[in-house]
Amino acid sequence: MTDFTQAVVIGGSIAGLLTARVLADFYDYVMVVERDRVPDRPENRRGVPQSPQPHVLFTKGYRILEELFPGIGDDLTVAGAVAIDWAREFHYFNEGVWNRRTDEPTDITSFTCSRPLLEWAIRQRLAAFSAVKVVDRHRVIGLLATNGQITGVELESVAGKARSQISTSLVVDASGRQSAAPKWLENAGFKAPSETVVNPFLGYATRRYRAPKDVAAAWKVMLISQQPPDATRLGYLATIEDGQWIATLGGYGHDFPAIDEAGFLAFAHSLPSSEFYDAIIAAEPVSPIYAHRATANRWRHYEKANLPNGFVALGDSVCALCPVYGQGMTISALSALVLREWLMAGKGRSVDFQRQLAQSNRFPWMLAVGQDSRFLTTAGRSQPNWVENLLSGYIKQLMKQTSVNAEMNTLFIEIAHLIKSPAMFYHPNVVFQVIKNMNTKGTK
Ligand SMILES: Cc1cc2nc3c(=O)[nH]c(=O)nc-3n(C[C@H](O)[C@H](O)[C@H](O)COP(=O)(O)OP(=O)(O)OC[C@H]3O[C@@H](n4cnc5c(N)ncnc54)[C@H](O)[C@@H]3O)c2cc1C
Repeated sequence: MTDFTQAVVIGGSIAGLLTARVLADFYDYVMVVERDRVPDRPENRRGVPQSPQPHVLFTKGYRILEELFPGIGDDLTVAGAVAIDWAREFHYFNEGVWNRRTDEPTDITSFTCSRPLLEWAIRQRLAAFSAVKVVDRHRVIGLLATNGQITGVELESVAGKARSQISTSLVVDASGRQSAAPKWLENAGFKAPSETVVNPFLGYATRRYRAPKDVAAAWKVMLISQQPPDATRLGYLATIEDGQWIATLGGYGHDFPAIDEAGFLAFAHSLPSSEFYDAIIAAEPVSPIYAHRATANRWRHYEKANLPNGFVALGDSVCALCPVYGQGMTISALSALVLREWLMAGKGRSVDFQRQLAQSNRFPWMLAVGQDSRFLTTAGRSQPNWVENLLSGYIKQLMKQTSVNAEMNTLFIEIAHLIKSPAMFYHPNVVFQVIKNMNTKGTK
């Protein structure tokens, strides 16, 4: 007779749900503990305060979703999510110019929809896995330890405050950027991981609109980008389900967008291109304006900690990024694959998992922190050295080329969507193109 195996996942959001999917292939029983009541339809949740904010699903993240839940794209389509070809349908204003998009269909695709719809679609798919049980309205309040390793969790019911203990051979913390796991580890006699925080003091304000029926927009997603070090403002507008647009304004360095009607519109009007403002002024608002300011980059260094076995952490609880770069859900999906590899290799030490995860998180972290550090108002910013300054001058030139060269634009999107290595920016053919075109009209 084989031993019955069980794992507990803390948090039933994107990272927790994808983790449960992976664990279902390795454990007889996977318990996902979620403090919220889990809604049976797409709805904002209190435990995920970023729910009303826009959530870009990168092509890499979408491909991993399809790998874990084959056919989930069909479910999203039926539920109203909008398929997007990012090289053709993403309208991007950066370095004072709009990007040049290809006319040809590409495979750089995913869906644009609200965050609650995407989470709901994943939850629906996970329900088909009989090994997984989501225990909602319960919160984890501590870790149990025996002989130097984690052997379970302590739960509290949100309704009655009744407490219980669950023994398990693996605990995965996926409880997000406010995770209390460092404190739980300390309470159980272990050291909390050190952390790095880089805070750009970015604030979002987001509102939904009914898209005008008579306007056939030549884009599905529009972004007017911030431009460090001086231009702090951005605007993001995306087509989502139910014939709606989600419109977001962002401001770096405490330049927060207002959440009253007049202030919101004035902020939109101040963007360096009028296209965002022109679009929303012709559309009907259908929601309040939601603000969000918890946007710091935070890396908890579990990979350097003296971590007890039986416990691992992933998703935002380890590496939460400034949302402007749209990477969070995709790095959660990548985390789930790292977990799968670690389990397939025989579930070694917990710290080995965290080291592999740190490798996976490194490029998204460097991208977010590198860009945010170009604002002098960012707390904890890294000072670029002369090589980084040189490279950033080169990337600036390359970005200007995306306005005249559709191939360059496609390459930029592939790298941003984590499906090509950033090393491709330095491929000899690309370097040659950038240098050749540096002095041509429109790219100076
Ligand atoms: C403003 C904003 C915009 C964003 N935009 C994007 C974007 O465009 N694209 C993108 O890919 N990502 C984006 N992100 C990031 C994205 O939201 C997260 O990366 C993603 O949700 C994965 O996070 P997670 O599952 O690790 O944690 P979370 O989504 O924060 O979920 C944590 C879960 O754990 C539960 N929980 C917490 N504590 C306990 C406890 N003690 N016991 C039980 N349950 C608990 C919570 O209720 C919640 O359900 C954005 C984030 C923010 C803040």
